Amino acid sequence: MPRRNAVTWNALIKGYAQAGRREEAILLFRDMKREGSDIAPDRYTFPALLSGIAREGGSGCTQELGGALHAHVIKAGLEKDPFVGASLVSMYAARGTVKDAKVAFDQVGSLDPIVWSSMISAYANCEEEEAALLAFFNMLCQDIKPTQFVYSSVFSVCGRMSKLEMGKQVHGHSLKSNTEEDAAMLNALLSMYSDCGCINDAQKVFSSNDNVNVVSYNSMISALGQHGYPKEAVEHFRQMKLAGLMPDEVTLLSLLSAFNHAGLVHEGLQIFNSMVDIEGIKPTYQHYACIVDMLARSGLIGEAIKTINGMPFEAEAPLWRIVLGACNKHLDIDTGKHIAEMLFEMEPYEATNYILLSNLYARLGKWTEAEKVRNLMDGRGVDKDDAFSWIEMGQRTHIFGVDDRSHPISREIYRNLDSLISNIKVAGYVPDISFAAHNIQRDRKEESLYYHCEKLAFAFGDLAAPSGSTIRIMKNLRVCGDCHCAYKYFSLVTGREIILRDNQRFHHFNRGSCSCGDYW
Ligand SMILES: [Zn+2]
Ligand SMILES: [Zn+2]
Repeated sequence: MPRRNAVTWNALIKGYAQAGRREEAILLFRDMKREGSDIAPDRYTFPALLSGIAREGGSGCTQELGGALHAHVIKAGLEKDPFVGASLVSMYAARGTVKDAKVAFDQVGSLDPIVWSSMISAYANCEEEEAALLAFFNMLCQDIKPTQFVYSSVFSVCGRMSKLEMGKQVHGHSLKSNTEEDAAMLNALLSMYSDCGCINDAQKVFSSNDNVNVVSYNSMISALGQHGYPKEAVEHFRQMKLAGLMPDEVTLLSLLSAFNHAGLVHEGLQIFNSMVDIEGIKPTYQHYACIVDMLARSGLIGEAIKTINGMPFEAEAPLWRIVLGACNKHLDIDTGKHIAEMLFEMEPYEATNYILLSNLYARLGKWTEAEKVRNLMDGRGVDKDDAFSWIEMGQRTHIFGVDDRSHPISREIYRNLDSLISNIKVAGYVPDISFAAHNIQRDRKEESLYYHCEKLAFAFGDLAAPSGSTIRIMKNLRVCGDCHCAYKYFSLVTGREIILRDNQRFHHFNRGSCSCGDYW
């Protein structure tokens, strides 16, 4: 048999690894090492193997294998090679073990942009946002030029954290450093602006992109849907098809969710029902979930349940919870109670289920039943997720909990909120105490509503931001009905535009109304 050199070995290993045939790739690696002392694994061998493992995610077996390969890298004296190091970092990141990724990164100890890029994306993928930003700034301090990939990771981190100012600065930096913007980078930039509540800037990025692809359209359609512009989303969908680009599962999901956010049930169903015939795409669980959400929220709860029962998937608890949320909104206690009881069995430690049912009782004035559900929840030792809202001001993020008095200028904030509340009451705001779930006296109920976290965040923003300027606020849970109503009046009496991002969508409040048309 003719002797093979390292290049042929590497090509073979890479071929198997890329084809997902990991076992064969590993066996070849072993054979290669046995073949002879003159053929040693080199800087091309390991990246091929490691990327094969990275693609398989984090099962126990690949965990061990990854560690073993890392040991081989060290034995071969290649741990300082940026190319090999970057592959190790990515492999660990794909398995979610960011600490090991950092060890591999530190071993390289070089100023090579590739290994930095892997590390920053590792942090971003493992939801270590602060660490990703810190690594990015360290990289700049050491005069290492960020790659497009790095900018993409950092944009997506800024978007997730709603750090608009920082996102803008990083964008400015990328322009100054003359980094050529590839499609992935522009799509990340678009999503960053959209996630930070700046739909116009997102649109500008989209329009300035000469190489729009399916992902760009998907990002834009999803952004428009989230911000409550279904017509524009449909228009982009149309343009996309005109441009000869084939919509994919994500496109249709974004479009459906645009209809969902706008409460356009008829249009949503039309697209959903024609997915297979016209677009040739089979609905996935997510598509069904979107339709169920749409039906339930618009009050067609029976239809939503029928859809769940008819879908070719087993419904998971979060989908039932959506229907329970709709029962709460539409005061359907019979169905709500039934679903809640099912959910209490499916996931006894999920606080939201108890809170939704308890609130539903409370909104119907059935305080005893509401209390019973609360007691059941407490009795089981269920912890509830605390609501909080935050606002970026200057370089700082200010976080507010419910009834939170920990902010350094808390007294001024409460004073401003009290004065805002009396102003909006004059303008017609009536507190909706059905959103105050506790069995307390009426005036106390009103008061407990005033100090909801989103109201506190606005009161602070109103104090700190230049008069008349737009205020952007984020909330970790869905905005409550009373705060939504108060925000409309806030926008009216202060003349400010307010952009609120909750865990579902964006609300743009302007001159007394909201872009969601009170449908959310
Ligand atoms: Zn509220
Ligand atoms: Zn709204």
